[in-house]
Amino acid sequence: MTESASKPRVGFIGLGIMGQSMAGHILAAGHPLRVYNRSPAKARGLIYKGAIGCATPAEVAASSDVIITMVGYPSDVEQVWLGPEGLIAHARQALLIDMTTSSPELARRLAAAAEQAGHMALDAPVSGGDVGAREAKLSIMAGGSQAAFDAALPILRLMGANIARLGQAGAGQHTKMSNQIVIASTMMGVCEGLAYARAAGLDASAVLQCIGGGAAGGFQLNVMGPRIVKGDFAPGFFIEHFLKDLGIALEQADQMKLPLPGLTLARQLYTELAEKGLARQGTQALFQHYVHGA
Ligand code: NAP
Repeated sequence: MTESASKPRVGFIGLGIMGQSMAGHILAAGHPLRVYNRSPAKARGLIYKGAIGCATPAEVAASSDVIITMVGYPSDVEQVWLGPEGLIAHARQALLIDMTTSSPELARRLAAAAEQAGHMALDAPVSGGDVGAREAKLSIMAGGSQAAFDAALPILRLMGANIARLGQAGAGQHTKMSNQIVIASTMMGVCEGLAYARAAGLDASAVLQCIGGGAAGGFQLNVMGPRIVKGDFAPGFFIEHFLKDLGIALEQADQMKLPLPGLTLARQLYTELAEKGLARQGTQALFQHYVHGA
């Protein structure tokens, strides 16, 4: 990583629901920021606030000390890192951080390729949703060398409140899979509890307020619960991305010969919703399965 006169130059690729807010915090902290998104319109707001818009990942890479990716799927990450216009080929002794939820195997492959090309690499997926990204309160789970983690920490602190290194390359993605496994069964529980309250003729908002302060409380109940009660199924987190995560987690569990019946059922229910055309709704739209049947 080259030393710049002031703050390290940061590149950010993937400016969707999460990346838009995360990149915004880095810019607000005074880092020179280069941005790139597949559909250019999503870069406009940040460019207006002072970021430099780039036409390719290569252009981001050529002038950045730290480069962050927050794209959709493992195939997107692979293209941005390893493609002919990608980061590994065009970065100059940079720290590369993938914050996309992706596969542990890909994280290990990217770290090896990055290190061979003279870069440092970290997988650092996040949890905390659209709200956590907006409020810079994400949990960030990292995998990679201690040196890469130490170098990344000042930048990660601009986006997260709970940041940990869990091991070598791939450990961040494994931790994120553990997180998604918890959420999968939790979301089924939240939807079932609210469907039951409704069928019992209770005021769902009052139920939420009461049980949200007890042992059932947590992000899915306290943040997603009110959206469900309002009938707000807009995406904070797309069903299609959750299905990607459930697929990766099930594949990893299969390799470990670990049966996870809750995760298996969640994937089945979400697959049915996606087949009904709800893939671009938020994960809380699972409630529709319980009230309409999928
Ligand atoms: P999103 O809104 O779809 O954002 C992804 C962005 O990446 C889009 O703007 C997309 O561009 C861009 N992109 C995809 N491929 C690209 C490529 N090859 N080059 C450049 N840009 C590319 O999704 P998100 O909700 O921000 O989620 C991003 C990642 O974080 C996903 O892996 C998701 O699973 C994970 N995650 C999401 C949440 C959440 O609550 N939303 C929480 C934790 C983790 P287009 O505009 O062209 O589609």
